[in-house]
Amino acid sequence: MALADGSGIIRIGVIGGGQLARMMVPPAVNLGLRISVLAETEGSSADRAADRVGDYRDPETVYSFAETVDVITFDHEHVPPAILRELEARGVSVHPKPDALQFAQDKILMREKLTELGVPVPAWAAVANELELQSFIDSHGGRAVAKTARGGYDGKGVRVISRADEVRDWFTALAEDGNGGHLLVEELVDFVRELSQLVARRPSGEAKAWPVVETIQRDGVCAEVLAPAPVQHQATLEEAARIGMIVAEGVGVTGVLAVEMFETADGRVLVNELAMRPHNSGHFSIEGSVTSQFEQHLRAVADLPLGDTAMTAPAAVMVNVLGGPAEGPMPVRYASVLAAHPSAKVHSYDKLPRPGRKVGHVTVTGADLETVRAEARAAADAFN
Ligand code: ADP
Repeated sequence: MALADGSGIIRIGVIGGGQLARMMVPPAVNLGLRISVLAETEGSSADRAADRVGDYRDPETVYSFAETVDVITFDHEHVPPAILRELEARGVSVHPKPDALQFAQDKILMREKLTELGVPVPAWAAVANELELQSFIDSHGGRAVAKTARGGYDGKGVRVISRADEVRDWFTALAEDGNGGHLLVEELVDFVRELSQLVARRPSGEAKAWPVVETIQRDGVCAEVLAPAPVQHQATLEEAARIGMIVAEGVGVTGVLAVEMFETADGRVLVNELAMRPHNSGHFSIEGSVTSQFEQHLRAVADLPLGDTAMTAPAAVMVNVLGGPAEGPMPVRYASVLAAHPSAKVHSYDKLPRPGRKVGHVTVTGADLETVRAEARAAADAFN
């Protein structure tokens, strides 16, 4: 990597000021990397590191931020592709590259790419109108999952439907955009659990994976992560790991990639979603792995050698704090929670509580999954 100031210190610029950017700060400090964050608003989660506040949809704001760093990376996938392509045209090092990131920005492009790579996915179609949508629903058992191609997160932009008019508002919004957009529709998968495979990959091609984890969602939001995923069929976990690597290489990701998958009753895995940044399913790695996903992401985008991804204990469980204390942010409960749960590693994102909002998480590591899980749940619950 060509460094702008000759100091040998790599300056990383993160677009987006949420908790993912915030959690990149400690490993950046430890490694002696300079990190700056372009946050959306004052007081966002990564505010402590934010030396810039501005709108990531405004080209000039992003271009001038990029001039102050050696590499641009992300806390979210929402930066418009045209801005990213212009950054590349200006010679800025952007990781993941726009050619890879597009598959995490647009669920229809993602489904097309995974199909091309021969990776198993739910039956799907891109539909332009209610007629096409209804015909897919009718030929897939009378129910299906409709998704907006862009802009969804935490289950927003995902609806289980039996009639096409249940997403009339989405078709109306697409028509108003005037870009001839489509909705994604998929078979409703009868899965037994959800898995996630995290992989980090450098521009040089070096790639390292963490153990496959099980993720538990409530109301479309990740609630708990069990690392490693309890073994039900060993072959299934091996298949998930194999798919993770195929996808990482196939899309040419640089940085951390999360491949979210469904495991079916007969032991098959189907890829649901891709995220190209540190991911909620990898928070366990801060304490549970030799190298956390946040450190690995920084190493990968700076094209530095990747660290060991082995677990530091046989089991790690992460439980999200969703909502938070009614009387204020998480620290108002620290005295009682930290006293009652000394083995819990508590992370607060410095966000104000709101029903269902991810305001922090708790990780516990240890020898026995069920013991660790009970303790992590108890500590996280004590914040609500
Ligand atoms: P988001 O981008 O909002 O995270 P996802 O596509 O990951 O949306 O879907 C959110 C959740 O909805 C998934 O974790 C899963 O529980 C459920 N879901 C999504 N697609 C399907 C499907 N085809 N069949 C069954 N459940 C699904």
